[in-house]
Amino acid sequence: MIDVRDLVVSYGTATALDHVTLTVRRGEMVALLGPNGAGKSTLANTLAGLLRPASGTVEIEGRLALIPEGRQLFPDLSVADNLALGSWRCGWRSGERDPSYVYDLLPRLAELAGRRAGVLSGGEQQMVAFGRAMMSRPSVLVVDELSLGLAPNVTADLAGHLAELNRSQGLTVLLIEQNARLAFDLCGRAYVLESGRSVAEGECAELAEDPRVAGAYLGGAIT
Ligand code: ATP
Repeated sequence: MIDVRDLVVSYGTATALDHVTLTVRRGEMVALLGPNGAGKSTLANTLAGLLRPASGTVEIEGRLALIPEGRQLFPDLSVADNLALGSWRCGWRSGERDPSYVYDLLPRLAELAGRRAGVLSGGEQQMVAFGRAMMSRPSVLVVDELSLGLAPNVTADLAGHLAELNRSQGLTVLLIEQNARLAFDLCGRAYVLESGRSVAEGECAELAEDPRVAGAYLGGAIT
């Protein structure tokens, strides 16, 4: 569903992604780990078509939606209006703006529909960003830092929704996370990006036992 080959993305003369290759197959949940500045958001934004590669190829099969880092909601608009914006490219006129599909997936959003997005808690805002992405009925979802700034129980709730969508609807997910434990719990495979380069990849169970990965991202090996 996502096939990235030899991707180079630069900001002016600074190279943010340096020949990165990554694949996410249909129905997979794959994690992308890496420290601050590794290039994770650059990859997410390139997949979403917001950045243009300097070289390499990006192939997406199906419809891709992005939950961007920091949610990027319109704080003065209502939750319902923020959700509607998630479908504007794909069916503004064909009835796909109807949010009932998303309210069925994330019932809490129906209760919040009339509230201003800017007054919601961080967890509620992340749920709006999640719902907005699902409004386009994507087959591939890229999540840039699901857990950023959220309490563990809120993160677990959102992660549960993500896992359920993957299980029940076969939603393909690329999960960008600083929280490696969460990523390894949810995903089958992972890539590790450092300074714009892919430095490790494989099954999460195997990566968790790799001393370099465990030391850097898990605070020691998982036992
Ligand atoms: P974080 O976890 O902190 O969000 P990241 O892994 O998502 O980091 P990116 O945001 O993709 O990393 O940044 C990769 C590199 O590109 C960094 O060195 C960053 O300073 C640089 N960069 C990102 N956005 C821009 C920009 N708009 N202009 C110039 N440089 C940028």
